[in-house]
Amino acid sequence: MNIETKCLHAGYSPKNTEPRVVPIVQSTTYVYDSTDDVAAVFDDPTKSLIYSRFENPTVMAVEEKIAALEGGIGAMCTSSGQAASLCSLLNILQSGDSFISTTTIYGGTVNLFAVTLKKLGIECIFVDPDAPEDEIRAAFKPNTKAVFGETLANPALSVLDIEKFAKIAHENDVPLIIDNTFPTPILCRPIEHGADIVIHSTSKYMDGHAVQVGGVIVDAGTFNWANGKFPEFTEPDESYHGIVYTETYGKAAYIIKARMQLMRDFGCYPSAQSAFYLNLGLETLHIRMKQYCENAKIVSEFLEAHDKVESVNYPGLKSNKYNALAEKYLPLGSSGVISFVIKGGRNNAIKFMDSLKLASNEVHVADIRTCVLHPASATHRQLTDEQLVACGINGGMIRFSVGLENVEDILEDLRNAFDAID
Ligand SMILES: *Cc1c(COP(=O)(O)O)cnc(C)c1O
Repeated sequence: MNIETKCLHAGYSPKNTEPRVVPIVQSTTYVYDSTDDVAAVFDDPTKSLIYSRFENPTVMAVEEKIAALEGGIGAMCTSSGQAASLCSLLNILQSGDSFISTTTIYGGTVNLFAVTLKKLGIECIFVDPDAPEDEIRAAFKPNTKAVFGETLANPALSVLDIEKFAKIAHENDVPLIIDNTFPTPILCRPIEHGADIVIHSTSKYMDGHAVQVGGVIVDAGTFNWANGKFPEFTEPDESYHGIVYTETYGKAAYIIKARMQLMRDFGCYPSAQSAFYLNLGLETLHIRMKQYCENAKIVSEFLEAHDKVESVNYPGLKSNKYNALAEKYLPLGSSGVISFVIKGGRNNAIKFMDSLKLASNEVHVADIRTCVLHPASATHRQLTDEQLVACGINGGMIRFSVGLENVEDILEDLRNAFDAID
C-alpha cells in the first residue's frame, strides 16, 4: 500500500459483516473461558488482551496504522506527546545514565529533560544541532544511552540532519530517537534516514482538528539492544517472572518492553474514544499535510515580500538557513508553521495580532484552523526582553500556524492586520 492508502486502511481490515469503521471498544476488561486461559496470558501478555490500562483493540488498530505510516514494526499510543517523550527515554535509561538532546526541541520537552528527568537522576547533555560532528561526538560519556532530536523543531523551525545524528549515535552503540510531530510521516519518515525510535505528539497535525491530546512511540525494530549497553533488555525482568526481552521478542523487544513494563506501571494509555478521534484525523492526514504545505508556502512568500516584516522563518523558503536540509528531509513541503518578526517590536506585534479576525489567538499549533501565538507574551512570558533575545525570541515575533482555509482568505486577514499597524 502507498502511504495515502495506509492512512485509510492500515491497522483495521474488517471481516464478513464486521463494522466498516474501527469500533470503539469501550471496555476495561476482556473475558476468558478458563482460569488456565488467564494464566497463559500472564505468561505471555502479547498473546491476548488483559486490561485497558495498556492495551485496547481500538487503540491497537491506531497503533498498527501509525507503525505502518512510519515504517516501524510496532507502536504504542500514549495519553499525550509528553508521555511519549518520557516513556521513549525511560524505556532505555535509569538513574545514573545520561542522554544527548539537541537544544532545538519543544519547550515542554526542555522542562522534562532539564528539570524533571534530572530529579530522577538522568542527565540530559544538550548539543547544538548544527555543531560539527566531532563536537557532538565529544559530548558522549560512558553512561550515555540515547540521542534525541526533533525533525522540524517547534518553535525554532530548524531542520535536523537526521543522518548525521544517526551515524554518530550508532558509532556509540546507542539509539536515535526522533520527535517527528511537525512533519508527520507524510512529509518525513525518520526511520528511512536511520532513526531507531520515532515519537509524536498526535495532538498536532495527526489529530489535526484540535480535539484530542495524545502521543505515540514507534519502534523501527532495527536497533541491537543486545550490544552490551542495555542490560534491562538482556537480563531477566524481575517484574515479569524473569522474561528476557531480546530473547523472547527479538526485534520487537523495545516496544513490547515499553508496554509490558512502563505502560503497565505508569498507565498513561489513551482511551478507546481518544484513539477513535485520532484515527479520524489520520484518515485524511495525507490530504491535509499537502494543503498545509501549499498554504504555508504562499503565506511565507507573502510575508517575506511585505515591507512591515523584518524577517520570516520557514524552512521552505529559498532564503532560509535550513532550506537545503528541508529539501532533503521534507521534499513535499515544510509543514504549516511559520514564524516571523514584525517591524516595531512587541507593541506592533500585539496590535497586529489583535487585528486578525480569521486567525485565532491560541496556545496551540497545527490546528485545522489558522491560529497565532505571540511567544513573548505567552509561552515565554516570564522572560525579560534581554532574556528573550538570548533565547532567540524577538518581542516582535509571531508564530503563525497556517490552517486549511482558502489561502486568499488567510492573506486577506493578514493584509487587514498589516493595515492596522504603522
Ligand atoms: C506539543 C508537542 C509535544 C508535547 O505534546 P503534548 O501532546 O502537548 O503533550 C512534544 N513535541 C512537540 C514537537 C510538540 O509540538
